[in-house]
Amino acid sequence: MLNKKDFLKALNLIEQMFPEAHGELNWQTPFQLLIATILSAQATDKGVNKATPALFANYPDAKSMARADILEVEGYIKTIGLYHMKAKNIVRTAQMLLEKFDGELPKDKKLMQTLPGVGRKTANVVLAEAYGIPGIAVDTHVERISKRLNIVEENASVLDVERKLMAYIPEEKWVKSHHHLIFFGRYHCTAKNPDCESCPVLKYCKFGQERLGV
Ligand code: SF4
Repeated sequence: MLNKKDFLKALNLIEQMFPEAHGELNWQTPFQLLIATILSAQATDKGVNKATPALFANYPDAKSMARADILEVEGYIKTIGLYHMKAKNIVRTAQMLLEKFDGELPKDKKLMQTLPGVGRKTANVVLAEAYGIPGIAVDTHVERISKRLNIVEENASVLDVERKLMAYIPEEKWVKSHHHLIFFGRYHCTAKNPDCESCPVLKYCKFGQERLGV
């Protein structure tokens, strides 16, 4: 298991590779970030960014989205996977925001997760990005890298990964580190073809060493 000290050294190298790492979803308001993040589940940020300009032009806020016809909403997001379910979830989320939270996003992880289509990862992303509330959202990239770097067991749950990262990374770096890990997973340590040969992190990575036989 990689210890905290060595993990932080590896993370520092990852930061140097992607100093400008940032959230890639396009949004203007916390509400729009929430909707875009719900839409991004099992979809690419690029695909979501293609659909949201027209969606947000018609339904820019909770009030307009709450009154939307679900079939019309589907028309704007049908290029995104699981769009039937997501259309229902975003309209219902807008309705619940109006009914329970005066149209504002709750700034609380547990309350946020009572909204349809909002799990722990989405709540963490939205609270961190919109309000700067510290959190580490564990998506497929963050989970894969954490397992390849061997800071958790291969069969660890997403929650285990989140807890370990929170224990290893100083709180003030949670939000930024989450972006660094995502960029590293998207553009270097990819699922199918990680570039281990030129990886600065190789000396800390059991998976890469075994893969290259070094
Ligand atoms: Fe990913 Fe390979 Fe680098 Fe390990 S050595 S972090 S598997 S790219």
